[in-house]
Amino acid sequence: MKLNEFVGNDTVKYELSKAMDSGTFPHALIIEGAKGTGKKTLAHIIAAYCVCLSDNEKPCGICAGCTKALHRCHPDIFITDGTQPGALSIETVRKIRTDAYILPNEAPKKVYLILDCDKMLAPAQNALLKILEEPPSNVVFVLTVSSANILLQTVRSRSRIYTLYPPDTEEAAAFLEKRFPDKNPGELMSFAALCSGNIGTAIEAIECGGEETTALAEEILNAVVRRRSYDLLLLTTKLSSSRDFSAKTVEKLLELSGEAIRASSGLEISSDAAKLASEKLSLEQLYIMSKNIEKAREVLMYNVNLNFYSTWLCASLLE
Ligand SMILES: [Zn+2]
Repeated sequence: MKLNEFVGNDTVKYELSKAMDSGTFPHALIIEGAKGTGKKTLAHIIAAYCVCLSDNEKPCGICAGCTKALHRCHPDIFITDGTQPGALSIETVRKIRTDAYILPNEAPKKVYLILDCDKMLAPAQNALLKILEEPPSNVVFVLTVSSANILLQTVRSRSRIYTLYPPDTEEAAAFLEKRFPDKNPGELMSFAALCSGNIGTAIEAIECGGEETTALAEEILNAVVRRRSYDLLLLTTKLSSSRDFSAKTVEKLLELSGEAIRASSGLEISSDAAKLASEKLSLEQLYIMSKNIEKAREVLMYNVNLNFYSTWLCASLLE
């Protein structure tokens, strides 16, 4: 991925490309931002920039350096992932320190990606600080963390900090369309909106059966609207497969009932199932249904038997 392909965050991209073009690229960077905002993706783009062999725009995405970076097999890119045991230990940092003084194997620069530093303890940070104070000229350190304030002030002051935010819904949806070309653009737009533009969360929702729960919630709503009690029972029985699946479906159902209420008030909405509900049910019926779904969500938080729960939900939706 090239820098300009990174979604949103125009200020960060502008500052980084300015540093890249001017030859004043920092020795240490901290990328901070919430989960799913693209910290790791940006760290890998910076790593590719450091090892890119092109004379023009870097990372070019096609040279041998970029290709190895993409396949995570470049000998001058060192990655340690804080979610793995021992990854942020003082021993790891000492190893990095020793290694950093050895010249790059084949790239113009060596780069150390120290990812997910949220749990990096002070002794390890202090060990890192020693090399950040006098870094070898051809070495770049990239740290990712949810908030730079978690790190020691001394580490922060030796680094340039870049803050990532989720892009707006349209930008996020456009990215999701590229990533999931087979999926319905309208649905991807809903995912982007649902996750307030947070691409990581949206991808997780799409890949973890987000579509399945949406489809089931829509079918359930249709069965409620048409008062088809037997169909409804068959549908709610599907919820007994897992608590997580039930929770996601009920959450989606709650969202659809909210949409239906908005449609009844004359607002524009995108879901067909919610539109139908707003046409067939009175506002009062929609409010009762919404309340019952809220209760269903609450009940699910207790350790309720899922077989019992699915039957109970069917009955309460037909109230
Ligand atoms: Zn390249």
